[in-house]
Amino acid sequence: MGTWSRLIPSGVRTMIFKQVMRGDTVHCPVCDRGAIAYLPSGSPPRPHVLCPFCGSRERARMAWLFLKERKVLRAGLRVLHVAPERCLSERLTSLPGVKYTAGDKFTPGYDYPPGTIDLDITAMPFAADSFDLIMCSHVLEHVPDDRGAMKELFRVLAPGGMAILMVPIALERATTDEDPSVIDPRERIKRFGQFDHVRLYGRDYVDRLRAAGFEVIEDAMTERMDAESVFRYGLMRSEVVHAGIKR
Ligand SMILES: [Zn+2]
Repeated sequence: MGTWSRLIPSGVRTMIFKQVMRGDTVHCPVCDRGAIAYLPSGSPPRPHVLCPFCGSRERARMAWLFLKERKVLRAGLRVLHVAPERCLSERLTSLPGVKYTAGDKFTPGYDYPPGTIDLDITAMPFAADSFDLIMCSHVLEHVPDDRGAMKELFRVLAPGGMAILMVPIALERATTDEDPSVIDPRERIKRFGQFDHVRLYGRDYVDRLRAAGFEVIEDAMTERMDAESVFRYGLMRSEVVHAGIKR
């Protein structure tokens, strides 16, 4: 940090930064604000990722657009947010009369948003039919017993409710690549795409969700949008929304 920036209080720096970033080149659907660009993020950094205002990334923006389109967001919603993204948690908790529960499997050394509970999604301390909306995005690829987790998510979802269950999918694969004996982080990166992923889902992901009881919505949102909207909303073409409905 330079001498000048040290002299300016951080709150003022943030204010100046947000003022500078205002624009109408892109529009974040999560915080509903226009910006001159999405910021680069990741390692190695990818361009066009982070909303400068709410910190949303591509998949959070897609999930939020999906929920808005389907008119899922309403007052009094009972929400379970697994591995909560801060940007979405801010929006969900501001719904009038919302009953919001956030949970994550605690890992030492990580920092969780205040109020988040330590949660094992294969055995949850909630009664059946407890939630109208479950957000559980990019979680199941980390869970060894994902079929158990899906059944548990189905159990706590109320009839008529929806669960957002997005995962990374290799759409060129018909079947999921899975091998519990692969525990070496480097081997997992090579085979499953990340050091802590326990499988790489293929197109049969939907079959697993159906086996747990869900009626599945599979929505490749970017395929029905024009290129300009995909750019403005900052979405990833490889990302597909998977949502489970409980009838
Ligand atoms: Zn935003």
